[in-house]
Amino acid sequence: MAANISDVDVVLEENVVDRPFCSHGPTSLFVRYTEDGNSQQFYACSAFRDRKACNFFQRKDEKFSESKRMARENIKDEADQAYKKLKKRCHKLRKLKAKARVFCVTCGQFILPEEKDEHSQHETKSSIDDDTIKKPSRLFKPLDNNKTYAQYLFSESTIQFTIDVLKKMEISKVLCVGAPRIHEAIQSDRIKHSKLESLLLDLDYRYQQIYPPEKFCRYNMFNHYFFNDTTSETVFTNFLIESDDKRIAIVTDPPFGGLVQVLASTFKKITETWKKQRDSIEDKELPVLWFFPYFMEKRIVDCLPQYSMLDYKVDYDNHALFRGDVKKHGSPVRIFTNVSPSQIELPSSEGYWYCSECKRYSGPENVHCQMCDSCTSKDGRTYSHCFKCERCVKPSKVHCDKCGICQLKDHKCGQIKGKGCHICGNLSHKRKDCPNKGKPIKRKNFKQDGRPVKKKKFSK
Ligand code: SAH
Ligand code: ZN
Ligand code: ZN
Ligand code: ZN
Ligand code: ZN
Repeated sequence: MAANISDVDVVLEENVVDRPFCSHGPTSLFVRYTEDGNSQQFYACSAFRDRKACNFFQRKDEKFSESKRMARENIKDEADQAYKKLKKRCHKLRKLKAKARVFCVTCGQFILPEEKDEHSQHETKSSIDDDTIKKPSRLFKPLDNNKTYAQYLFSESTIQFTIDVLKKMEISKVLCVGAPRIHEAIQSDRIKHSKLESLLLDLDYRYQQIYPPEKFCRYNMFNHYFFNDTTSETVFTNFLIESDDKRIAIVTDPPFGGLVQVLASTFKKITETWKKQRDSIEDKELPVLWFFPYFMEKRIVDCLPQYSMLDYKVDYDNHALFRGDVKKHGSPVRIFTNVSPSQIELPSSEGYWYCSECKRYSGPENVHCQMCDSCTSKDGRTYSHCFKCERCVKPSKVHCDKCGICQLKDHKCGQIKGKGCHICGNLSHKRKDCPNKGKPIKRKNFKQDGRPVKKKKFSK
């Protein structure tokens, strides 16, 4: 997972061809800032930030010995071999009768009759019928203990809501990027009545056993990399062929540690491929429903100004924090989209209402603020307007005249934590724009307007 570790940034370069590869595709270039103001650039795995999962590391200026380069080439060969083996296995597995099908939950794979002994100490499920195979996300154990995959699965109501939205938008092809439950719902529903088609792009290798290559591409969304042979990318490109009666949309629920710029660049690449497949020259955008936490709004909108955040609270099955009923103000996950919010109706049965001033649906807790001229609540609580700050603030905050902004009731004056530049601490800019980049500097405390806090004046 490309987690946003505070002293490491990703360097976005268009040219991925020259990058070294690890077994998860082209690596990403990172820069690490050190306390003394220096920085170091290095390549590391774009999918796995945990060194235990992928230990690739190469300094940008490192000269490569021939033997090291050969070893790296082998990585790719090995991956190809492993994929060929897997395809053979899957072929054998498909031939088995439901009764003979055994799935090892511990290993995340189906077991051939001759392999039973190796899994005798593992958690297994036998007699896997076709209905069970149609809902693989219920068969697999979510990989949520492991930060890389961060598998938090949608609840039934969110799945239904999403499918309804897609149908109302008259979408008929859904590209599910890290959204296996949406794919699963479409695939199992398809046979019955719906005209929806879908393709799943996901890093989780286990889906290879379930879906044929036309329905699943093993894919890394942090570097837009397709695993296995070239068929996978062809499947993807063909899926993006659109016609007037077959409109396409992306549904994506990336790991929340994923960097916004990296994900945005991936969606841009997908959009470019889609545009190439279209014969018309009109400048339309590929509709995207991107599930991400509300507190990432600023980053997403800064990066993709045509996106807006919907008030809909996304509900999950297996994550205490994200389950609507656990915390009073509900799930922190929202939908970001480049579709006009007025077109996405939120369920009135759950209290969502249409704000005619904002021209969109708002949450039950949200109130339209006449001063801000918008429905300002973000985190599920009702915000209130502060006339001194000239904006709406969380209900837990009150205006502090000493600090000059709204703060938590028990705050210590002069300390505004957690925001601003990681290099110098200034609140008026972020690390990437820091004028002190590369120079040794001591961190100070800064005020919202960028001026340093004078310690003496505020000390008690
Ligand atoms: N809520 C979704 C699942 C989201 S969990 C649903 O119910 O369908 C995040 C998903 O992204 C998982 O399926 C995980 O396997 C996948 N994933 C994690 N890292 C990824 C990467 N680098 N590239 C592609 N998919 C990834
Ligand atoms: Zn790797
Ligand atoms: Zn409003
Ligand atoms: Zn307001
Ligand atoms: Zn205030």
